[in-house]
Amino acid sequence: MSEATRIDGKAFAAKLRERVGALAEAFAETAGRKPGLAVVLVGEDAASQVYVGAKGKATVAANMESFEHRLPADTDEGTLLALVAQLNADEAVDGILVQLPLPGHLNEQAVIGAIDPGKDVDGFHVINAGRLSVGQTGFVPCTPLGCMMLLADRLGDLSGLEAVVIGRSNIVGKPMAQLLLDANATVTIAHSRTKDLPGVVRRADIVVAAVGRPEMVKADWLKPGATVIDVGINRLPPEPGSDKGRLVGDVAFAEASETAAAITPVPGGVGPMTIAVLLRNTLVAAYEHAGLDTPE
Ligand code: NDP
Repeated sequence: MSEATRIDGKAFAAKLRERVGALAEAFAETAGRKPGLAVVLVGEDAASQVYVGAKGKATVAANMESFEHRLPADTDEGTLLALVAQLNADEAVDGILVQLPLPGHLNEQAVIGAIDPGKDVDGFHVINAGRLSVGQTGFVPCTPLGCMMLLADRLGDLSGLEAVVIGRSNIVGKPMAQLLLDANATVTIAHSRTKDLPGVVRRADIVVAAVGRPEMVKADWLKPGATVIDVGINRLPPEPGSDKGRLVGDVAFAEASETAAAITPVPGGVGPMTIAVLLRNTLVAAYEHAGLDTPE
């Protein structure tokens, strides 16, 4: 079988960001203000610092206003909830994102639940999760929505295709499965208790791996011709002589490329889509808040 097509999430995301940037400019002309995204970071988690920095830069590059709130690790829940309430009330803020994970003493569900669902551009609020599960319009988590955009671009109609999602988290696996179901795929959700995971995955025309285990999915788990979306981001231990390990996904990319028809690389696949979709969700929120029709 010939080598799989690499699904270029980086290029797709760049085009989406450009389109969102142009629409944000049009919004500012009509509404007299830019769309605004507030990002709240509590503590000094190194990966979160990088993500928040990247989100702020991308927001500004897409002609939107970025409001960053960095709070110390020992911030108490009352202070954080007061900030969320202030952002809910702020008309310059269309989207609110609280960077997860929060330090252990803070209740993530309580904090996410305090965000106005109309500003919950991460789509983690129970109201938005509920809307997704009953087929109503709401904010959909950015990573799975980005995966769906890549799948739709690659495969078009997903009706009747067998899809296996590995992972059942609230932020990736479950919403991913819901979106695939809404697109009329036949969906299986696999997880750590699934029996014969390779056998389950081998049935799939579409595999979405969202596990957090480096290169777990092997070539012989895949049906020849499958489309593989690798959400995992795992850093391997550093090689001798290097201070940083390589980033890999949940799929053994090189060998899987021999069996799959198409596959997302890590990095450069799903990762860049997440921020692009966050900007898209913020733009949609801004149009809604201004009472304007949402652009396509
Ligand atoms: P979670 O840890 O919340 O969930 C992992 C899921 O994988 C769980 O449902 C777990 O099952 C399942 N799992 C763990 N081990 C196995 C196994 N051996 N076999 C089958 N299933 C298993 O992770 P997230 O969903 O938050 O993230 C998953 C991955 O995606 C991570 O690598 C993360 O870094 C990455 N990620 C990437 C993003 C991006 O922008 N590209 C955004 C978000 C996440 P169980 O429920 O039974 O414990």
